[in-house]
Amino acid sequence: MIFELMNIIFYLLAIALTLYAMNNKNLLIQKYNVPGPRYTSYPTVPFWKNDELTQKEWIESINVNRKVFKSDEISLYIHLPYCESLCTFCGCHKRITKNHAVEKPYIDTVLKEWNTYLSLLDFQPIIKELHFGGGTPTFFKPSELKRLLIGLFNTTIIDPDKHELSFEAHPNNTTEEHLRILYDFGFRRLSLGIQDYSPIVQQAINRIQPFENVQKAHNIAKEMGYSSISHDLVFGLPKQHLEDIEYTIEKTLQLMPDRISLYSYAHVPWIKGNGQRGYDEKDLPQSEEKRALYERSKELLQKAGYVEVGMDHFALKHDELSKAMQSKSLHRNFMGYTTKSTSMMIGLGMSSISDSWFGFAQNEKSVEAYSEIVNQGKLPIIRGHLLSELDLLIRRHILDLMCHFETTIDQESLVQDLFPAIKNRLSELINDGFVIIQEQKIILTEEGIPFVRNCCMAFDQDLNDTTSNEKMFSKTV
Ligand code: SF4
Repeated sequence: MIFELMNIIFYLLAIALTLYAMNNKNLLIQKYNVPGPRYTSYPTVPFWKNDELTQKEWIESINVNRKVFKSDEISLYIHLPYCESLCTFCGCHKRITKNHAVEKPYIDTVLKEWNTYLSLLDFQPIIKELHFGGGTPTFFKPSELKRLLIGLFNTTIIDPDKHELSFEAHPNNTTEEHLRILYDFGFRRLSLGIQDYSPIVQQAINRIQPFENVQKAHNIAKEMGYSSISHDLVFGLPKQHLEDIEYTIEKTLQLMPDRISLYSYAHVPWIKGNGQRGYDEKDLPQSEEKRALYERSKELLQKAGYVEVGMDHFALKHDELSKAMQSKSLHRNFMGYTTKSTSMMIGLGMSSISDSWFGFAQNEKSVEAYSEIVNQGKLPIIRGHLLSELDLLIRRHILDLMCHFETTIDQESLVQDLFPAIKNRLSELINDGFVIIQEQKIILTEEGIPFVRNCCMAFDQDLNDTTSNEKMFSKTV
């Protein structure tokens, strides 16, 4: 009798402790679910100061890079903005059209922009990394993509041994011919945009994505010899519940892509306008419910052999991204996490951002304005930012945190003066067990990794001067 009573007491105690832990976890998620940057750059775009960055200033910033890094290597990003229909969750710079007559003039303009760069630079760039993003690169006919690549490859050098060429593909319009032509030019990586396989979620985001189309593009690419295939998924979408994400992960695991990006849906309707207003706010999973979608996906992916890489990314152990994470050579730029680190990235196409390490420059955001300026023989820069000495130091710390989940403050550094204030801003994260400080080193704990953006915010000098993050950034969870 006494044993039975004790068993019941232990059982009730275990339930109470579990409920307490769950409640505590939910409270922490709510506490840290605040608006904050994703840190693809520092300073972040809303805080760039050079609204009228000139072509001359931008080219000078590229020259500073060459002097400091003594390298002609660049990463080249090309933005191909067209899509046939609007996915209502989308935060990209895109143009929706079914008129394929736009392809030719757009490719002509991108090539013209590239040639303008070549005429302004006093060196011959070596392309170490080339990425086609969008929009939908596979909106373009294979023959137009081929014309773009011939135009690029005829005028420049592609690092023959160590280059990495990649593109984003929409499974619904990626043909064998697309894959073949790009493969023949040296592309070995592609990302298939999927988002979610649940029919209810697909309807809510206006993106009907049959598994068979993904399977077909994936298998053709695999057989052709693409060595790294990534599937892009999104958590936190409207009407997405635990069973939807479980179904999506289950379908994804049938194909075992080398990499999986599991992006957090960024709800920023005040920036992206009507597209993101195509569903009700109440259809969106909030704080702890949204976090549970990520946690469950992570659990299923890790069980299947994937390693978590940086923020929102997973890779199989053989993939370069996993290896780079382990060897601490992972890098992050506007294209996301990358294994090929160049200190200079040139972005071509409407809305593209370029990064000379010492400065950022963004292109015109409408196809018309972009084309008009390029056709006048000028670089279509609308704004940018030239980094101060302090910006450069903070940028390095944020990059270390985002890639390696730790950073060390140099005793001699300018940041040393800010260290007390940074520690102060980290105090909540330290008290909650998410961050540890060991002398000059700031380390995110295993439990703290989901809150890496919050940790970076403690370093961000611009955020700390402002109270109006609400309308600038999506929430961190
Ligand atoms: S998600 Fe991709 S295909 Fe859909 S509108 Fe955005 S860029 Fe276009």
